[in-house]
Amino acid sequence: MAVFSLSDFADHEQVVFCSDDKSGLKAIIAVHNSNLGPALGGCRMWPYASEEEAVRDVLRLSRGMTYKSAMANLKLGGGKSVIIGNPRTEKTPALLAAFARALENLNGRYIAAEDSGTSVDDMKYMAQFTAHVSGIVDKPTDGGTRSGDPSPATAYGTFVGIKAAVKAKLGRDSLDGLRVAVQGVGHVGLDLAQQLKEAGAKLWITDIHRESLAEAAKVLGATVVAPEEIFGLDVDVFAPCALGAILNDQTVPQLKASIVAGASNNQLAEARHGVELMKRGILYAPDYVINAGGIIDVYHERIGFDRAALVGHVEGIYDNLMEVFERAQKEARPTGEVADAIAEERFMR
Ligand code: NAD
Repeated sequence: MAVFSLSDFADHEQVVFCSDDKSGLKAIIAVHNSNLGPALGGCRMWPYASEEEAVRDVLRLSRGMTYKSAMANLKLGGGKSVIIGNPRTEKTPALLAAFARALENLNGRYIAAEDSGTSVDDMKYMAQFTAHVSGIVDKPTDGGTRSGDPSPATAYGTFVGIKAAVKAKLGRDSLDGLRVAVQGVGHVGLDLAQQLKEAGAKLWITDIHRESLAEAAKVLGATVVAPEEIFGLDVDVFAPCALGAILNDQTVPQLKASIVAGASNNQLAEARHGVELMKRGILYAPDYVINAGGIIDVYHERIGFDRAALVGHVEGIYDNLMEVFERAQKEARPTGEVADAIAEERFMR
């Protein structure tokens, strides 16, 4: 399999293939760019259908982290790692320990955090073998403490980002009466929906996990719709908080919302869907700008946690998005393209 010539390889500084016979570890660590600092990004464990799929995924995701951290004004580079395997059946202490030793060998050029298929507990376990994991420290909240899971910060950043989009598109500061469709009520989506409810928004929700959906509907007093109905609702904001590639040839023509602003990563199936949204007069909050709360949270854990500093930094997502929206409007370009240009100005030397 070719690696250097893959289009996703674009400018990666280092890609490390790690294996350990005893534990069955097969993992890939990708460092895309470290101009601004050590590469930080999640460690995903997934039963990839092929090694090629795993390579493509890690390359694409690590590049995305460079843009996300630069945009959020963090002194971090972009990196990501993948462990090939089923997290439910193949994740063992020996495998995590072997992966942690591979991290340690990189001397901090890459720092791992939890992602799909890995948990705070996994990171805490790996911390016995390496200093280069994060998302593990309990943090103070209003009423107590929360775990190292960055989802609450992601949800708050997304809430702030929706406020920015509403201001830019609808000219309003208040979310009172705003109609929002939330796709996915998992860690981020549920927390976001709660904040929206408290701000007076009217909610429609969906999820493929029926129990989560029923529970969320009870807590939120939201209207429940089937997964395929969420796109065509007559709402102001569509907030994808489930999965990637959700803005595609099938879904974009259905949208009645004038704003797309949610936490999912890689929302645009292809860049041309960003152009399509612009043509339809729909304001798209670029995913990695609005969902940066989680990486900001992990960064603050590393520099010495101060709650006020974290909150201020997450609230900076408002200004970042406004900069993107204003420049996109002035230059008549899709917001995603403008976000990439701003991020590149911040990390390229
Ligand atoms: P999660 O797994 O807790 O929640 C996702 C929810 O979406 C689940 O309840 C799942 O059942 C549901 N879902 C899956 N497919 C669906 C579909 N087709 N229709 C409706 N619902 C569906 O994940 P999360 O941590 O809440 O993350 C949500 C999204 O935000 C993901 O794309 C993730 O990559 C992104 N994100 C999360 C964080 C974070 O801090 N957790 C940070 C940045 C980005």
